[in-house]
Amino acid sequence: MSTRKDTLATDVARIVRDVPDFPKPGILFKDITTILLDGPLYGRLVDYLCDVVEESGATVVAGIESRGYLFGAPVAARLGLPLALIRKPGKLPWKTRKASYSLEYGTDSVEMHEDAVQPGSKVVVMDDLLATGGTMEAACRLVRELGGEVVLASFVIELSFLDGRKRLGDTPVDALVVY
Ligand code: AMP
Repeated sequence: MSTRKDTLATDVARIVRDVPDFPKPGILFKDITTILLDGPLYGRLVDYLCDVVEESGATVVAGIESRGYLFGAPVAARLGLPLALIRKPGKLPWKTRKASYSLEYGTDSVEMHEDAVQPGSKVVVMDDLLATGGTMEAACRLVRELGGEVVLASFVIELSFLDGRKRLGDTPVDALVVY
């Protein structure tokens, strides 16, 4: 790990707020809103993510609703890349494609506009946090169904004890802070 990444990871880990029992008992929620309130740190984090995305060779940034947008949008704008939105069901107005994934109880799904990713695009999919990997796995499946190649799954935080990387198979993964 480079010194710059190391220092950034330490600073981000220090400022992320742990909220016990949110949104339900037993969950330790990693609150990233504290990063956004520290302008210089948020800026350094976006700089880091831009480097990672550039190195991946991505031609499209895809952000997962909603915290993925906080990182995907500034990166896409800075690099001059398209930003494709991955949303919860029923939110997108145009023709959509859906991918479902299993939760502990039941299923959930994500949607994209059919024309959000052009066939042959190299796509980086961004979210704030990797937990079990269900959300990112479904998002990557959706991108591939639209003809895109997923070159990277990018996260600020990874909860490695939940084994999310396993669910992502051989998709390359980058996470700045790993717990
Ligand atoms: P998963 O599909 O289990 O990998 O969950 C990832 C999604 O749920 C991400 O969009 C996260 O924002 C959110 N998430 C899951 N667990 C947590 C947690 N402990 N703290 C904050 N966000 C979480």
